[in-house]
Amino acid sequence: MTVLIAGGGIGGLTLALSLHQIGIPAKVFESVSELRPLGVGINVLPHAVRELIELGLMDKLDASGVRTRELAYFSKHGKPIWNEPRGLEAGYKWPQFSIHRGTLQQLLLDTAIERLGRDNILTSHHLTGWTETAEGVRADFIDKATGEAAGTYDGALLIAADGIHSAAREKL
Ligand SMILES: Cc1cc2nc3c(=O)[nH]c(=O)nc-3n(C[C@H](O)[C@H](O)[C@H](O)COP(=O)(O)OP(=O)(O)OC[C@H]3O[C@@H](n4cnc5c(N)ncnc54)[C@H](O)[C@@H]3O)c2cc1C
Repeated sequence: MTVLIAGGGIGGLTLALSLHQIGIPAKVFESVSELRPLGVGINVLPHAVRELIELGLMDKLDASGVRTRELAYFSKHGKPIWNEPRGLEAGYKWPQFSIHRGTLQQLLLDTAIERLGRDNILTSHHLTGWTETAEGVRADFIDKATGEAAGTYDGALLIAADGIHSAAREKL
């Protein structure tokens, strides 16, 4: 029973790691040929950090991000407007992390390759459609750069983690 995941972003990679942790085989199909650390700094809130800690990623988060202790707003003249504690300082059981989005994605990608194997994290696989089968689902992929077919894969189910412009959501 393999779960097919379309999209190797923060959502798809975290899902793949969680499935692997509970013994469910998963395969990630990412549209681009190479995942590069793009983006800006983001704040990963305690409820999300909890999931990452349960995946055993606390040390990697500490090595790559900053534990956020406080959120503070200032006027353009530097006068404080508002501040409040965050993460552990706010009473949560888990810290909040400020981290570059690309760094987080790379951390998840490296861990996914390490745990699931490179064969299960496929790039240049852009989901174009799927059909339901007696056993689950058959998904079709192209290499978006060339427009050529990249293969058809069978799985128990297909999860769309293909972002805000989701091709799967559009079809549904
Ligand atoms: C400026 C900015 C600031 C933000 N700040 C925060 C913050 O502080 N805290 C926070 O929690 N969130 C923040 N977010 C939101 C956060 O970045 C997103 O919620 C998160 O990245 C979504 O992850 P995702 O995996 O769902 O989608 P994405 O990260 O978009 O990943 C989708 C992946 O699917 C791939 N893909 C697309 N189509 C296909 C297809 N047909 N087949 C296969 N693969 C496909 C894409 O190439 C991509 O790699 C911010 C977002 C922005 C833009």
